[in-house]
Parts: sequence; structure tokens; C-alpha cells
Amino acid sequence: MKIDLKQLTASHHASVPFSETIDLREETLYGAKPFQSPVQISGEISNESGILRLRGTIKAIYSTACARCLKPLDILLTAEADTVLTDDPEAEEEDDLFVLTGDSVDPADVLVPELILQVQMTYLCKEDCKGLCPHCGADRNVTDCGCEKKQIDPRFAALHALLKSDEGEQ
Ligand SMILES: [Zn+2]
Ligand SMILES: [Zn+2]
Repeated sequence: MKIDLKQLTASHHASVPFSETIDLREETLYGAKPFQSPVQISGEISNESGILRLRGTIKAIYSTACARCLKPLDILLTAEADTVLTDDPEAEEEDDLFVLTGDSVDPADVLVPELILQVQMTYLCKEDCKGLCPHCGADRNVTDCGCEKKQIDPRFAALHALLKSDEGEQ
């Protein structure tokens, strides 16, 4: 939701709070749409002696899968912003500045990029996730499929490695 800044610029030391739920279901990241739950943003925009400043928090559930065992994971992500709003287009390259394109601002435009920065490339269901067996595909956290134990004779180790790399290419 856009916040009209004219009421703020008129009065030094004024502030406008915001709190809303935004919809990021169509946001695509790493080929997936990971934000299927409502995303919460809150904070305020204040006029501090003529400088407009947005402080806020964004909270979202990032739905992904364990990089090793593929188990579905819901990660709670939170990010914060403390950003000066400016209408000077020259300021664009500087940190913690948001360049306005008119008399209003949508806090989501400031906060969503901060959320995206929190996302890691990969997540694990737990530090020591054992992953899937490369031979039979069993979840090795749940079952001991025994595939490793079947490779006893060291003379077959090289052949086994060869077969394994073939499997990996499929
Ligand atoms: Zn896992
Ligand atoms: Zn196995």
C-alpha cells in the first residue's frame, strides 16, 4: 500500500506507521515461487528535521527443500530496513538510500529487497543430514539401506566408482 508523503513533508517530526500483509506468491527465486504464505511488513516513516526515514521489519515463510534429502522445509526469514528516502536521483548508488519516484512510497518496495538478501542458496533440514543414498535413493536419515556395505572387495572399488559416476550423470 502506498503511503502519501505530502502529509509527512509538511511537518517536521511527524511519523506515519504502517503494518500490512503483502502477497509475494508470484515472486520467483531460483526457479521457484517460495513465498506462498502471507508476508508481514511493519514499521514507520518519519520526518526527522526534513529527512524522511523508513524503519521497518519484514517477516516471511520461505518454502524450500533440504539440499541433501529433499525434505520440504519452511524457513522463517526476517529482515529489517533503516533507510533514508530521497528524491535525488544522483543518490541512487549509495547504501541505505531509497530513491523516490513521486510523492508516495510503498514500504514493500523498500523491504522486499531486504528480505531477498536474507535468502541463502541452499538449506539443510539439519546440520548433519545424511542425504539420499546415491545407489538406491533411500533417505539415509530414516533407513540404513546397506548399499555402502555391499561394496566389500577393494578390487571392485574402481569399477564401483565408475558405475557411480555413470549413475550421477543420468
Ligand atoms: Zn535433509
Ligand atoms: Zn541405498
